[in-house]
Amino acid sequence: MQSTRTVRLILGDQLNQRHSWFSESCPHCLYVMMEIRQETDYVDHHIQKVMGIFGAMRRFAENLKSRGHRVHYLHLSDESNRQDFRRNITEVIKQYEAEEFQYQLPDEYRLDQQLKEICHELKEEGITCSSVDTEHFLCKRDDLAEFFKGKKTYLMESFYRDLRKKHGILMKGSDPEGGKWNYDKQNRESLPKGHRPAEPLVFDHNLTDLYEEIKEAGVKTIGEVDAERYLWPLDRSECLELLDYFAENALPWFGQFQDALTQDSWSVYHSRLSFAMNIKLLSPKEVIQRVIDQWRDHKEEIDIAQIEGYVRQILGWREYMRGVYWAHMPGYASENFFDHDTPLPSWFWTGETKMTCMRHAIKQSLQYSYAHHIQRLMVTGNFALLAGIDPDEVDKWYLGIYIDAFEWVEITNTRGMSQFADGGIVGTKPYVSSANYIDKMGHYCNGCYYDKKDKTGDKACPFNSLYWHFYDRNRDKLSNNPRVGMMYRTWDRMKDVSKKGILERADEILKDLEGI
Ligand code: FAD
Ligand code: SF4
Repeated sequence: MQSTRTVRLILGDQLNQRHSWFSESCPHCLYVMMEIRQETDYVDHHIQKVMGIFGAMRRFAENLKSRGHRVHYLHLSDESNRQDFRRNITEVIKQYEAEEFQYQLPDEYRLDQQLKEICHELKEEGITCSSVDTEHFLCKRDDLAEFFKGKKTYLMESFYRDLRKKHGILMKGSDPEGGKWNYDKQNRESLPKGHRPAEPLVFDHNLTDLYEEIKEAGVKTIGEVDAERYLWPLDRSECLELLDYFAENALPWFGQFQDALTQDSWSVYHSRLSFAMNIKLLSPKEVIQRVIDQWRDHKEEIDIAQIEGYVRQILGWREYMRGVYWAHMPGYASENFFDHDTPLPSWFWTGETKMTCMRHAIKQSLQYSYAHHIQRLMVTGNFALLAGIDPDEVDKWYLGIYIDAFEWVEITNTRGMSQFADGGIVGTKPYVSSANYIDKMGHYCNGCYYDKKDKTGDKACPFNSLYWHFYDRNRDKLSNNPRVGMMYRTWDRMKDVSKKGILERADEILKDLEGI
C-alpha cells in the first residue's frame, strides 16, 4: 500500500478540479471527502440540494481517481463514517498514520472555526496542519474590509468599479466599455404579454440509489424531487454545457428581463449557475469570460446593458457579499435591526396561501429548489420583512430551501439585502413594496384572491396595508434615512381616517398570518 504522509480534506462545496493541489501527482497525499450528518442536519435542506451536493461530490471523487489521485471517500451509509468532521478526520489520520493535515479555506464561518479547532487538537498530537486558498474568488476574504477601511458605509458600486479596473473587465483603457459603468436603469422590464422565455436546460440523471440512501439514513429534508430525472448539473462538463446554453439562449435578454416576474417560466432568462459556482465546479472568472466572449462575437444580438448587468451580479454582488460576510461574522448572524420576532407562517413550507405571488414563489421553490432573485427579494423576502418575521427563521428557510444556499452568500442576501436586519450594511434602504411593484413586474395579481388596488377590507392585498404599517411602526429607525424620506411625506399627507383604516387592516393580517 502507498504510504500516506499528508491527508487533504475536500469539502462538498470545494469541487474545483483545477485547483493547484491536483495539477501534479502527489503520491504521499490522500484526498478525503465525506458525506456527513453534521452537514445534512444543521438545517432542514431541500432534498435536491442534498442530492446535488452528494451527487457532485461522488463524480468529483471519481474524476480525481481517474487522474491518478488517491481518494478516501466516506459515503453517508458507510459503517466507518462517524458523521462529523472531527471524528472522521482524526480516524483517517490514525488509520493511514499520516503526519500532516491540509485543508482549503472554507467559505463558512462555522467550518472555519471548526477546522481551526480540529487543527489545534491535531497539533497537540504532533500532526502538522496548514490551509490553502480555494483559488476560486477574485478577492481575498479581507479585501472588502480593507477597501472600505475608515469609511462609515459600504457601497457595492464602488467596490465593483474597482474590481472592473483591477481585473480589466469590460474596460476600454481606463474607461468602462460603452461609456457607462452601470446600466441598471435598462434592466427593469416586465415580460410583454404572451412572451415565453427560452426553456431552461435541465439534465436527466437517474439518482434513485442516492435518494434511497438519503431516505434510509433518515435525513430530514424538504421539497420535492423526481429522483429518476434529477435536473441539476453534477459535474464540470455539465456545468460548462449549462453556461454555454445560457450564453447562447438567454444572455441577449438577461438584463432587460432580470427583474421580471411570471408564472409561465421558473427561471425566465436567469442562468441558474449559482449552484455550479457555489460548489466551485465553475469559477466566476471563467463564467465572466465566457459571457463577455459571447457578447464580443454577437454584438448585434447582445447589447452592453445585458452583459454589464450579468457581470455586475458576479463580479459585483457575489464578491461584495462574501467580503461583507467575512468583515462582519460572527456578529452578522444575530443582527436584528427592527427587533422582529414573529414566527414564520407554516405555509412557507407548503405554499398554501391565498396570495398568488407567494403561493407561486414558494411552490416553485419546493418543486425546483430554485427561485430567481426578484422572487426571493421582492416576493417572499418583501413579505417576511413587512410582516416582521424573525430573521433567524427567515434565514433558516432560505438556507434550507435553495440549492445554491451556503451561509456566506445566503445570510448576507437574506439578513442583509432582504431583511435589512443589519441596519444598512449591505443596502442603503429596505427593499419593500406594495402590490404595485409586484403587479408592474409580473402577471401575478390578475386572478388573485386579493385585490391589488385595495388597502382596506377583507380582500385588500396584504402587501398594501403591511407596507404602510412597516413604515409607520419603524419611523424612529427609518425617517432619517434620506432614501425613504419621501415615503414618510406621502404617509403624513394621507388623511387620518385613511391611515387608521390601513393600520387596522394590517393589524388584522398580522393577528392571523396563518389564515391569509
Ligand atoms: P442569475 O440571475 O443568472 O445571476 C448570475 C449570478 O450572479 C448568480 O448565479 C450568482 O452567482 C450571482 N448573483 C446574482 N445576484 C447575487 C447576489 N445578490 N448575491 C450574490 N451573488 C449574486 N445567492 C446564492 O448564490 N445563494 C443564496 O443562498 C442566495 N440567497 C439569497 C437570498 C435572498 C433573500 C436573496 C434576495 C438573494 C439570494 N441570493 C443567493 C442571490 C441571488 O438571488 C441568487 O444568486 C440567484 O437567484 C441565483 O440564480 P441564478 O444563478 O439564475 O442567477
Ligand atoms: Fe400578490 Fe397582492 Fe398581487 Fe395577490 S394582489 S398577487 S397577494 S401582490
